[in-house]
Amino acid sequence: MTGNESRVQAIYEITNKDPIEMKAPEKLEDLWASHVFCLNKMQASLPKSVFKSLKKTIKTGEKIDPEVADAVAGAMRDWAMSMGAKFYAHVFYPLTGGTAEKHDGFISPQSDGGVISEFSGKLLIQGEPDGSSFPNGGIRDTFEARGYTGWDVTSPAYILESELGATLCIPTVFVSWTGEALDKKTPLLRSIAVVDKASKRILQLLGNDEVAPVSSSCGAEQEYFLVDTHFSNARPDLLMAGRTLFGKAPAKGQQFDDHYFGAIPPRVQAYMHEVEETLYKLGIPAKTSHNEVAPGQFEIAPVYESANVASDHQQQMMTTLRDIAKKHGFICLLHEKPFAGINGSGKHVNWSIGNSTQGNLLDPGDTPEENLQFLAFCGAVIRGVHLYGPLMRAVIATASNDHRLGANEAPPAIMSVYLGSQLEDIFNQIKEGKLVGSSHKGVMHLGVDVLPPLSKDPGDRNRTSPFAFTGNRFEFRAVGSSQSVSGPLISLNTMMADSLNWMSDQLEGKLSGGGDVGEAVQAVLKDIMDKHGAAVFGGNGYSDEWHKEAVEQRGLLNIPTTADALPFLKSDTIKTLFESTGVLSPTELFSRFEVYAEQYILSIEVEAKLVCDMAKTLIYPAVMRHLSESAGAVANLSDIGVAVDKAPVEKVASLAKTLFDGANELESAIAKHDFGSTEDHMQYCAGTIRGMMDTIREAADTLEGEIADDLWPLPTYEEMLFIK
Ligand code: ADP
Ligand code: MG
Repeated sequence: MTGNESRVQAIYEITNKDPIEMKAPEKLEDLWASHVFCLNKMQASLPKSVFKSLKKTIKTGEKIDPEVADAVAGAMRDWAMSMGAKFYAHVFYPLTGGTAEKHDGFISPQSDGGVISEFSGKLLIQGEPDGSSFPNGGIRDTFEARGYTGWDVTSPAYILESELGATLCIPTVFVSWTGEALDKKTPLLRSIAVVDKASKRILQLLGNDEVAPVSSSCGAEQEYFLVDTHFSNARPDLLMAGRTLFGKAPAKGQQFDDHYFGAIPPRVQAYMHEVEETLYKLGIPAKTSHNEVAPGQFEIAPVYESANVASDHQQQMMTTLRDIAKKHGFICLLHEKPFAGINGSGKHVNWSIGNSTQGNLLDPGDTPEENLQFLAFCGAVIRGVHLYGPLMRAVIATASNDHRLGANEAPPAIMSVYLGSQLEDIFNQIKEGKLVGSSHKGVMHLGVDVLPPLSKDPGDRNRTSPFAFTGNRFEFRAVGSSQSVSGPLISLNTMMADSLNWMSDQLEGKLSGGGDVGEAVQAVLKDIMDKHGAAVFGGNGYSDEWHKEAVEQRGLLNIPTTADALPFLKSDTIKTLFESTGVLSPTELFSRFEVYAEQYILSIEVEAKLVCDMAKTLIYPAVMRHLSESAGAVANLSDIGVAVDKAPVEKVASLAKTLFDGANELESAIAKHDFGSTEDHMQYCAGTIRGMMDTIREAADTLEGEIADDLWPLPTYEEMLFIK
């Protein structure tokens, strides 16, 4: 198709689409977890003793008895086959951030020509995928490419339906044959265990007799964009890179905020409805979906769950959002910044820790200044953010999230923690050495007598903080929308464990000769505020003053790009943190650096190649057609003596030259491959390559506003964002 034909046709197809038929919703009781082999199904199908033993394994992480595994496998297979499954798959989470599956059939052909269905405890517990194509950052050479998957008993098996039929999916860890973690789940499970141990230790020191296992929780809000596939199919950049590499800002963007919580278009409603029903079947408690700030942007948030299950569910949610979008004629963009100049997408990772005896350990209650336990845990967070800020920055560092962090819409690339005015005041008093009281949770009066007073949270919301306290949890707002939540959760759990252990050491020292627990805790907290209070910040994180103050006065690091952030993974502080807690060995940690660095370089290279291709084969030809038409017109008009300005032709011609020359230079720049180190290569991508891409884009976007619309080949921002 030439000129704008594909765009015209796309608009025709979309506006003439048959109206969507909304299916009547199924009953929630029938839907809920219907596709999950959850505890109540196990209980119903397993002998009492087997179920009891399994529950113990789930709770304590104790090794599973082979006979128990066989019984569970049998029950699981029977249930899966009754749901129509012919296959099973060990599902694992490689370092790519995606979800991988190794499919096998239950079928086992017999020597007599018959066939039986087979699924033993051994097959349930351990699998051996040919994992050699998954990144391992140098842990495995190909001759020892063996990788094993191992059943994660704490995350339930489920049935996944697709056009090809139903598959029983078993969440697993993925490790090398030498036992090193090749995935995101293994270190997450380890981090959950270390924060449990460290929490129990300090809770006992604080005088609790009964202390139940402590688990970390996560509720991850997911933002995403929907674009009609008629448009996205005409945009190689959206198809291949998940974001627009070109595109002039629309006349109307998000300035009016009229999309936020506005009416959801019927097509999108039908989509959300199917997404929710699918997630309910998988036992994923997705609760809210509403419009986000940007046009075409939406959000879905599940109710929080234990960190491990939440992380698996988050992966399933991303897959579901993408798959169902295809059925509804949309592409679901999880990229952090699909459209320049339009708000990007994040994944707010809400995180807390708690147990059944002490409750949510980050709940301040009505009088936080008297709540020693809360203050201790909150102090541990402050210390963690200050000491391990670069780690928090590194685990959210991707080529795509770089577009968001540092722009004045998403949390800045400087790690700090927001506590809200009441808590900040309490911690400042502790720092001064005298905790006198606090501005209690107040009541907001709205000035309209008939309205009931609304109770006010101890802390206001702060949208500009990367890590904010939000009433009874912390919200890691800087996480990218396309990311797995495992990395952020691993870092939070591990740094928390480290801080709690450090505090326990201090407390044990102070209390060894007897002494008051309250005074000891206050002294430790004062020490934390003296050393690490610089990370507490309640102001506007977007402001230039903060960037200056953070770096110059507080000594915090501003880490603008992934190229700057990832090398911190190899720093002594972070190496020691992971090694001392046992969450990642140095080999495992460095392999992660290698894998993430390679992903960063690859994604920028792919984008750069796309920029060259699109500039040369789509945009430049359109510009030349425009030029030949308008130059012809100018020449003809002058011939017959009509005065005509040739400046517009000159302007377009000059931009065309910038575009074409830029693409050629970028092509040569990508060809460079002799770098002294991975770090140098990353810096080259972040600086030189990204800079050249920006120059080309600037010329192209200006051209979009200059040349005839009927020649422009790429669906525009207006079309993609506003036509549904
Ligand atoms: P907002 O958009 O105002 O931040 P939402 O209700 O959309 O709030 O999302 C809040 C998220 O935080 C939900 O996923 C919710 O389940 C989760 N959450 C609530 N309490 C906790 C907690 N104690 N620990 C972890 N996550 C929590
Ligand atoms: Mg939020």
